[in-house]
Amino acid sequence: MMEPVTVETIPAGIDSTIVEWTIESGFPLLKFPRRLEAAFEREVGAERSRQLAAGGLFGLVLYNLFLIPDWLAAPDTFHTALWLRLGIITPIALLVIAALYLNPPVGVREFLAAAGAVVLGAGSNLYLMLIGHSPHHDAQHQVIILILLFITMVQRVRFWYAVAACLACFAMHAVGLAMLPAYPFEFQVSANAVFACAVVLSIFASYVLEREMRMNFLLSLRGRLQRRDLDVESRRDPLTGLRNRRSLDEVIEGCNQSKAVGQELAIVLLDIDHFKAFNDTAGHQAGDVCLKRVAGIIQSELRDHVDAAFRFGGEEFILVLRDVDLATAVRISERIRRAIEDAAIPHPALALGEVVTVSMGVASAIVSREIRVGVIISAADSALYAAKRNGRNQVSPRPPAADVVDMTDRKLRLK
Ligand code: GH3
Ligand code: MG
Ligand code: MG
Repeated sequence: MMEPVTVETIPAGIDSTIVEWTIESGFPLLKFPRRLEAAFEREVGAERSRQLAAGGLFGLVLYNLFLIPDWLAAPDTFHTALWLRLGIITPIALLVIAALYLNPPVGVREFLAAAGAVVLGAGSNLYLMLIGHSPHHDAQHQVIILILLFITMVQRVRFWYAVAACLACFAMHAVGLAMLPAYPFEFQVSANAVFACAVVLSIFASYVLEREMRMNFLLSLRGRLQRRDLDVESRRDPLTGLRNRRSLDEVIEGCNQSKAVGQELAIVLLDIDHFKAFNDTAGHQAGDVCLKRVAGIIQSELRDHVDAAFRFGGEEFILVLRDVDLATAVRISERIRRAIEDAAIPHPALALGEVVTVSMGVASAIVSREIRVGVIISAADSALYAAKRNGRNQVSPRPPAADVVDMTDRKLRLK
């Protein structure tokens, strides 16, 4: 409830240490530490699945357009090509695309995208090349280079999958050429050399592209973390580390909203006794040290993430306790008062042996249209004034044993 409002999402369990460490390491193997890798996948996975599916459809259209060169350059296998491309490959490819669209786990997703292009795209072209008797197979074996480009540049399949796919394409290309009597050895060497270069360039591009994409993710995460830290900082009191007035105003606003109506809220005002005299005697710096110690004790006595302590003014603090009734708030306050007294911080302006103490005013109410948080704070302020008037170093109203508050009024129980 007390967390600052952040509109940007930061993956759970990720902090700037792991992000900075990963940026520093340069992640040469294109792998983040486990938690960061999982966060990366969660963030990009769904969009990537959609992109791969769309790219797959686009590739399938281009693939079927090769029926035109099939018809013009290899008429002997045109009917087989027609049947193979439209009757077998297209339905299988559509199934693969549908599976990609369903956002499968990363390994399945990248495998489907890479293997789909290699087996369906390159495999079927190779098959047509091998069964044909036409001397003009050029388009069919060059298509395999296009498949490399498709895998690494259009689909941007993850690097290690792209490496495997590129090598598979190279092997298919080399074996295909070797099995065709039409191509002499010299031609095979030069065609394979060109293909090998295409493989190297594609793998290089794949590495650079994935690294850039991962780096962009890290930089965006770094920006989000920095903005969140600034956000937290702007709501913190620099001296005591507690939350500041700005943060308090936001919490009060939240508590006054209609969804909080009906919620029980306790407000505690805490003021250090004779603090001006402390400062005047020991100096401002010693006063600051004392303020920090008192703030530390207050914080350590509260429930993390449920209650919140704010520095209200100079040596005044305010506690906001949710779902806490007056008796409980008084008990909590008494515990804090005693903890500060037990810390035995010497008070230099008082008699020897006297220590720093605090006075506390407590009020609790069920928030309603009439009783806003401001009303409860005013009541706590009056209670604090009473504590000061009655001799300081005490909680007002007093703890239950001496409680004089009428507890029968559930709506507003203030002293
Ligand atoms: P009382 O017991 O009635 O509360 O008396 P008091 O002297 O504590 O109250 P008063 O309001 O007169 O004095 C508050 C003092 O707190 C005044 C100022 O010297 C000191 N103070 C306020 N802000 C700071 C701060 O940031 N650092 C230090 N060291 N002192 C501060
Ligand atoms: Mg004061
Ligand atoms: Mg004071």
